[in-house]
Amino acid sequence: MSETDTLPLQIGVLTSGGDAQGMNAAVRAVVRAALHAGATVHAIYEGYQGMVDGGDRIRPLSWDDVGSILHRGGTMIGTARCLAFRERTGRLRATLNLLQRGIDRLVVIGGDGSLTGADTFRREWPDLVAELLQQGAIDADTAARHPALMIAGLVGSIDNDMVGTDMTIGADSALHRITEAIDALTSTAASHQRSFVVEVMGRHCGYLALMSAIAGGADYVLIPENPPPEGWEAQMCELLRNGRAAGRRDSIVVVAEGAIDRQGQPISADYVRQVLESRLGEDTRVTILGHVQRGGTPSAFDRWMSTLLGHAAVQELLTATPESEPQLIGMRYNRVCRIPLMPCVQQTRAVAEVITRRDYAQAMALRGGSFTEMFQIFQAMAEALPSVAPPAQPQRIAVLHGGGLAPGMNTAARAAVRLGLDRGHTLLGVHGGFEGLLNGRISTLSWGDVEGWTATGGAELGTTRQVPSVEQLYSVARALETHHVNGLLVIGGWMAYEAAYRLYSERDRYPAFKIPIICLPATIDNNLPGSDLSIGADTALNDIVAALDRIKQSAMAARRCFVVETMGRHCGYLALMSGLAGGAERIYLPEEGITLKGLQADVEHMIASFREGRRLYLTIRGEYANDHYTTDFLCRLFEEEGGDLFDVRQAVLGHIQQGGNPSPFDRVLATRLAAHCIDFLTGELERGTAAGAFIGLAEGKVTTFPLKQMPDMTDTRCRRPLHQWWLDLRAVMAAMARPRQH
Ligand code: ADP
Repeated sequence: MSETDTLPLQIGVLTSGGDAQGMNAAVRAVVRAALHAGATVHAIYEGYQGMVDGGDRIRPLSWDDVGSILHRGGTMIGTARCLAFRERTGRLRATLNLLQRGIDRLVVIGGDGSLTGADTFRREWPDLVAELLQQGAIDADTAARHPALMIAGLVGSIDNDMVGTDMTIGADSALHRITEAIDALTSTAASHQRSFVVEVMGRHCGYLALMSAIAGGADYVLIPENPPPEGWEAQMCELLRNGRAAGRRDSIVVVAEGAIDRQGQPISADYVRQVLESRLGEDTRVTILGHVQRGGTPSAFDRWMSTLLGHAAVQELLTATPESEPQLIGMRYNRVCRIPLMPCVQQTRAVAEVITRRDYAQAMALRGGSFTEMFQIFQAMAEALPSVAPPAQPQRIAVLHGGGLAPGMNTAARAAVRLGLDRGHTLLGVHGGFEGLLNGRISTLSWGDVEGWTATGGAELGTTRQVPSVEQLYSVARALETHHVNGLLVIGGWMAYEAAYRLYSERDRYPAFKIPIICLPATIDNNLPGSDLSIGADTALNDIVAALDRIKQSAMAARRCFVVETMGRHCGYLALMSGLAGGAERIYLPEEGITLKGLQADVEHMIASFREGRRLYLTIRGEYANDHYTTDFLCRLFEEEGGDLFDVRQAVLGHIQQGGNPSPFDRVLATRLAAHCIDFLTGELERGTAAGAFIGLAEGKVTTFPLKQMPDMTDTRCRRPLHQWWLDLRAVMAAMARPRQH
């Protein structure tokens, strides 16, 4: 083995093109994962411009250089658009700058432009190296050592327009900004019975517009991929008129910046305003959100996803060989995936071309099945009049909540009511969960009754943790019969599932329970079978991460260890994911428990790192991590052992995790799952069958599982699924924490 073979790998990282929230988390993860593996990471400042300029625009990053950046929007290593890199001469200079530092592996974080640039660079690399050798700018040994450039691409773009990854870095945060704005506009619009036209970013991609329209409960949306039919102005006005007549006090129309009509002509927000003013005589205002969408702190999702992607990009480059094809590191169904980079870029560009060719059916197809599905769901919910003629004897579907409160319960109930009405059913709201059902607190719900429920936390219908006892089943059966309930939608957590399972199991004794029943997962604990995520978990995670940001800031003035306790019962999802997204040093999970030996090692590590100059040590403890080693115990232990070196504080976050308005992701998921539940119940009622099921998002698909399978899929003692996908992420968590000296 030659001496050079043992040199550490030199990895360059750059952010390029438009900035996006979450880029910092990706850079941090790249640096830390690389340092863990013994590689060196060089930040290339200001994107390709820094690569062309060289000098101090390419500098190694240390562990601490990327501390305290998770919560910051934008990119700490800068980004730019660089004309020089588009020219071969610029790329030749870039090659020399990289070779002088031994860099032949790059993590490029940017949009399709930046990734195309990276690919061009990679293909030219051998020629560029040969040219530098010929010029005498490098020696033969250097040329021989770096025959190829290896690339891992991460997509940083708020537009979420890249084929090959479900989400791009920044898209979720942008959705947060837009949804916050729509919520704010809705309240002022409702006060004055006004209309608002909101223009959102996204270039050729309608993702932000469509998802924010769903999350914000808007009335109409215009997206580039699916322009409205001829005469849409009249149709839009009719729809808004119907909504007003059914009780809406405001109207919101979301327009994507790339919105066009069937002829391919742009539809501007101002044009929509003119239409509304002239045809409806409504007081209409335009809000163009602009760069606000790129700004602000990254969402919890953008932090943890970018962390996973950055970590995976380093693993990719560590194992890459000169023959390796460049890979895009993306997310598919909440898991990291790697796919050849250039086909993704080409297909992404194909969508834009298809739109220009006005082949809109193809444009929607290229965006994928769930995009089309969400568009249809949005349309069905926005229309106050049913799309089918109600039957003479409508089916009666009852909606109720059960278990602890989860943000997004209202969103799910609203979607179920509106979509059920759209199918011609009668919708009933059960007030106060299963207790309300026992007492017959049931009323019909109209389209207008659920107006405004999209955005609000809490549960308008109320919820209780009660599971009807065997003695109470008779009363439950009576209530279902009295109110002629033909189908039941149960939205809630563990207790709700248990209650539904009990009704299902007792159907031989109580014929009233022989109706279709479906459970929709809604709990911040994320501990339900059959679904990667339950409604409320993302909101809780965002609330925890916001609290962690404040806690970290409060600790800046002292040398301090924080022990933060999160909810989640026997499920460590919130603890692990907030640890990843919030930059914790150590997490304690109920799945792993806490041991004395482990605590001793933690204390030693804590002391060593404070001695080395650390100012903050953040630990997160899932509430049920251990019955005896409580949060208070941990604090006392650390305090005692820390002596004068550091002090210790605890923060038990408690019910702020259950409160709060649902995040955009939770609203969209709630809507999607509710739509499938209504489909399920409708199908059963049409067939005259009475299956019991629970629904979930598993491997990206909405799937229903028979209720009777529930015990086989769960650890009933610990009340969590037998398989928990996110436990695999512990390795990434460990790689983000400072290595321990043994
Ligand atoms: P985004 O990456 O967000 O799509 P741009 O398209 O502006 O943003 O690309 C960012 C930078 O990437 C450009 O300024 C340029 O330096 C580089 N780049 C883009 N396309 C190419 C290309 N075809 N060849 C070389 N460099 C490119």
